[in-house]
Amino acid sequence: MRALDARDIEAAMTNSERIAGRSIGVLGMARSGCAVARLARQLGGEPFVSDAASASSLIEATRVLDRDSIPYETDGHTDRVLDVDYVVASPALPPHAPIIRNAQERGLPVFSEVEFASWVCPAPIVALTGTNGKTTTTALLGELLLSAGHDAHVCGNIGLPFSSVVSKLRHDSIAVVEVSSFQLHFIADFRPNAAAILNITDDHREWHGDFTAYRDAKFRIAENMTSSDLLVLNGDDPILNGPDPVTNAQRTYFSTTNDKRADARIVDDSLEIVRDGVANRLLPVAEMALRGVHNWSNAAAACLISSHFNVEFQSQAATLRSFSGVPHRLEAVGQVAGVTFINDSKATNVESAVTALRAMSQPTVLIAGGRGKGASYQPMVDVGREVVTHVVLIGEAREAMFAELGRAFAVQFADSLDAAVALAFSLANPGNVVLLSPACASFDMFDNFEARGDAFKRAVNGLHNGQEDHQSLSR
Ligand code: ADP
Repeated sequence: MRALDARDIEAAMTNSERIAGRSIGVLGMARSGCAVARLARQLGGEPFVSDAASASSLIEATRVLDRDSIPYETDGHTDRVLDVDYVVASPALPPHAPIIRNAQERGLPVFSEVEFASWVCPAPIVALTGTNGKTTTTALLGELLLSAGHDAHVCGNIGLPFSSVVSKLRHDSIAVVEVSSFQLHFIADFRPNAAAILNITDDHREWHGDFTAYRDAKFRIAENMTSSDLLVLNGDDPILNGPDPVTNAQRTYFSTTNDKRADARIVDDSLEIVRDGVANRLLPVAEMALRGVHNWSNAAAACLISSHFNVEFQSQAATLRSFSGVPHRLEAVGQVAGVTFINDSKATNVESAVTALRAMSQPTVLIAGGRGKGASYQPMVDVGREVVTHVVLIGEAREAMFAELGRAFAVQFADSLDAAVALAFSLANPGNVVLLSPACASFDMFDNFEARGDAFKRAVNGLHNGQEDHQSLSR
């Protein structure tokens, strides 16, 4: 691992001058916007926060800002938020949003929240991105580093803004930051000491405009990295296997095959890590608590980065045996009358639902649907053929999904997630799985994917209780 030297610490100090005494327009009052404003204020900056949403929907946020006497406006953006030295924009705002265009037309620099926080981070930064697997890999990497005694702080897209963590870090801490393409689009000097791009498939056209712009945003993670930094790439991904991204960092690859070029690979059903030119078998993949081939990738990527921070093989293997994942990602939530229920609410795009279907080994009743993103659902047919017995569709996208899935599967509609769970249960036999893996966003019916996953769990619990009542009645 490359230790921070005096120059890095000095650079962090000089960077705080980018905040102290500056007027900063903060666009968006969600968690990351509030964190930016508070950090700015703490470091002597003058933040002004602006949100287009109504005051009544921002009560929590305005309470936080009031507590620190940070000025703000709601119900729309006025010119005041652009009367500043620069703008820090919420990831919810795409480059074509009028307020961003307006800022750029005035020549104001627009930065993302991770860019902003990185200016004053005294610790090495590890950044993880990819279309799928970011949160799982970030959480796993945090565990790998913590178990080995590092002062690791998991933050970013995973739920805790980097800006709210950065002032707790010391020079010997490690910031483990999950970063999205939205955050990367608006970086300038963001430079991770180690980074991973887990995979790149089609997603988020609505924000970036097209796939190339999305891919290029992901590639930016590596643009400021230097030859002492480590860039971990997925050797199985056709987009990451080529010359891009252009970077000065050392590249290393992981693979779920016995790929000799990869420093983390699967050999004879075991995860093998190459360190200093010597190959070491870490553990059989069957002993990992995380399930599915996609999780071999996630584990391989996390191990390569933790090796960069000198985490020993034994410690890595122990963590992989115990780390069973984060909620809402292929999360087993219970069994009712021999039917296993799996909550994969985080599968908000087709690719991640395909991954979930690939991980199923028992006959599966799939619950899918929600707010579609315009992608084709055909890949779900191709992998689902082996395991899917029935499909229950919910939400706005159900007609569009039916057009493609209906040709291959027995499909039924349900009007709510509760009804879908009850219907799926009635279609499943003992030994089968009911899988919620929507392939769509949740916003048509829920606030977010967590609320959708929680509703699924409640519905399953309801079945549980119903079953128990039924059993006690018949006893
Ligand atoms: P992200 O934070 O990138 O959305 P998560 O770890 O939350 O990723 O996982 C999201 C979904 O993607 C889950 O439903 C999971 O089944 C699937 N998934 C996880 N890791 C991978 C991977 N490496 N490749 C493809 N799909 C994955």
